[in-house]
Amino acid sequence: MHEIGLCEGVLGVALDAAGGGPVRRVRLRVGRLQGVVPEVFDQAWEMVSEGTPAAGSRVQLVDVAVQVRCRACGQESEADEAPFDCRHCGSPDVEVIAGDELVVEEVELAAGELRRNPTLVASEEGV
Ligand SMILES: [Zn+2]
Repeated sequence: MHEIGLCEGVLGVALDAAGGGPVRRVRLRVGRLQGVVPEVFDQAWEMVSEGTPAAGSRVQLVDVAVQVRCRACGQESEADEAPFDCRHCGSPDVEVIAGDELVVEEVELAAGELRRNPTLVASEEGV
């Protein structure tokens, strides 16, 4: 169950963002390549967060589709499952540009305060 390891990473980030305060909700962006099963993730989260300020909190998973860029024709396409061939020219020589991420987007504290992930906000503004 690799979800436990993922949860431990997410918990560290969430607790940092909350600065020791109680956590109510975590919004997590999960690429399809992570192979996360939501039900299993929820169970793992319950186990991992027990006894921490995030106990009883909920993780909201945001599904991110796999996106590839073709090295042959340079176009981008969405891919459902491997092999991720280019939809435009059929070349298998593609680079995955989205779908393998696991990023804490937002942490909601019990008081209702929202903490956005600063690195993520910065990268979104840069687009
Ligand atoms: Zn192509």
